[in-house]
Amino acid sequence: MVYQSFLIKYAEIGTKGKNRYLFEDALIHQIKNALKKVEGSFLASKESGRIYVQAMGSYDYDEVIEALQRVFGIAWICPVLQLEEKDFEKIKKTVVAYVDEVYPDRHFTFKVESRRADKQYPVHSEQMNRDLGEAVLKAFPETRVDVHNPDVLLRVEVRKVVNIYSLMIPGPGGMPVGTNGKAMLLLSGGIDSPVAGYMIAKRGVKIDAVYFHAPPYTSDRAKQKVVDLARQVARYSGPIPLHVVNFTDIQLYIYDKCPHEELTIIMRRYMMRIAEEIARANDGLALITGESIGQVASQTVQSLASTNEVCQMPVFRPLIGFDKQEIVDISHKIGTFETSIQPYEDCCTIFVAKHPVIKPNLERIRKSEEHLEEKIREMVRTAIDTAEMIWCD
Ligand code: ATP
Ligand code: MG
Repeated sequence: MVYQSFLIKYAEIGTKGKNRYLFEDALIHQIKNALKKVEGSFLASKESGRIYVQAMGSYDYDEVIEALQRVFGIAWICPVLQLEEKDFEKIKKTVVAYVDEVYPDRHFTFKVESRRADKQYPVHSEQMNRDLGEAVLKAFPETRVDVHNPDVLLRVEVRKVVNIYSLMIPGPGGMPVGTNGKAMLLLSGGIDSPVAGYMIAKRGVKIDAVYFHAPPYTSDRAKQKVVDLARQVARYSGPIPLHVVNFTDIQLYIYDKCPHEELTIIMRRYMMRIAEEIARANDGLALITGESIGQVASQTVQSLASTNEVCQMPVFRPLIGFDKQEIVDISHKIGTFETSIQPYEDCCTIFVAKHPVIKPNLERIRKSEEHLEEKIREMVRTAIDTAEMIWCD
């Protein structure tokens, strides 16, 4: 069956009352964006509260489904056969032809569910159910009707056109990106932060990202890996501007002036401060990290409290209660895992102390940071001013 149309069903957007159109428009915008990268020409539009994708000419079915499965807000993708002609005999014939082609193995139970959105239509839905069911049974005697738990739910909707469909392919769920402000993702080359970005984008939040690199201690390949990860997350979230901050001088300065076992924590605090400032300059309203309680020394509750204290913005940590394996599973699902496990060095691992503090004392950390007073402001300023922006699409 060559479908020319897809009916797009959403879930949560349906609860938005008066604002619903805003969410629908954002969804259409994101669908258009996703289909720009698919060969062929497509129309996405809204018609009496339903969203349709129309293929104008030939296209690759799998590619379209795959692209739509990355658009947050979509609950179901239904390939639909559309009939302009509303003559009931014609509908019957088409329904039989549809079943014939889509279900070559006839041993299934079914139920017809008709809907008459066009109230002028002379055949009532109950009548349509009966007559269409009969037509299918007559054409394929091996089938059976089961109104309670059918294998196939055959839907026929009489609207401006007639929609015939039964397949429902799951979408990613969530809310359309662009309906919930913007946040700044602290993106490293690891497994966790790309997953964290994905999860927040799934709730409709636009994503910017910041990466701290430390040349020559970290290589161009480590940076390229982060760019690749940002591109992979962008397949779901839409384009991500990635701010690459040169962190070398700040890192060396901290290494020089502060106790080595506090280096990671103090470094993290400066990352948060800088990320927040870049976020603010770009209309971001929150920060996102890939932290999860207890995963490493810098993610104990004490460490999290210590890095949290330097930010005014809310810090979203969507993975906070996840086990590593659960995070790994999502990274496989969204396609970032293979890139994340490439071996290039991370700027945090290079100066890491043998025995970093596990339960940092806030008073002591603040005291240690006083040793940085002379130059740190200017260094932070320079790091922000010299950040490079890479558009990841
Ligand atoms: P990830 O897998 O995301 O790297 P991780 O388990 O390695 O996480 P850490 O290295 O402790 O954890 O980093 C915690 C969080 O701090 C990361 O999830 C990320 O959000 C942020 N982060 C760490 N290093 C960097 C960096 N070089 N640039 C930007 N953000 C970073
Ligand atoms: Mg890391």
